[in-house]
Amino acid sequence: MGKRKSSRKPQAKVKKTLDSTFDCVSCFHEKSISCKLDFDQKIGVLQCRMCGVSYTCAINYLSHAVDVYHDWIDACEAVNASAKAAKAAASQDRDRGSSRLRGAGADRDREGSSSRRSKPYDRYEDDD
Ligand SMILES: [Zn+2]
Repeated sequence: MGKRKSSRKPQAKVKKTLDSTFDCVSCFHEKSISCKLDFDQKIGVLQCRMCGVSYTCAINYLSHAVDVYHDWIDACEAVNASAKAAKAAASQDRDRGSSRLRGAGADRDREGSSSRRSKPYDRYEDDD
């Protein structure tokens, strides 16, 4: 038998999948976010296997896991921005409150000094 037996193994099909694990912006674990795209339901779901945070968004047939991930990042940033804005508004209220207190104190000082000045004058008028 001169036929050479092929030693070539059938190559395993390398499935070219886009990266569907991402870093979690909630617990900051790396590659803990797994993304699933349900093209039948037209929803993308991601979940962190470390902290369990999950996010669902609408997708279309062009969407990729990374799109769902970026959508989630945007949503997180929007939440953070509104929280920051609320915090900034609260601190502004605090600043206004303290300046109001300072103003009231200055008014009290002026009243005090004027009343102190008027007393000896009144007494002088009585003596005369
Ligand atoms: Zn997480």
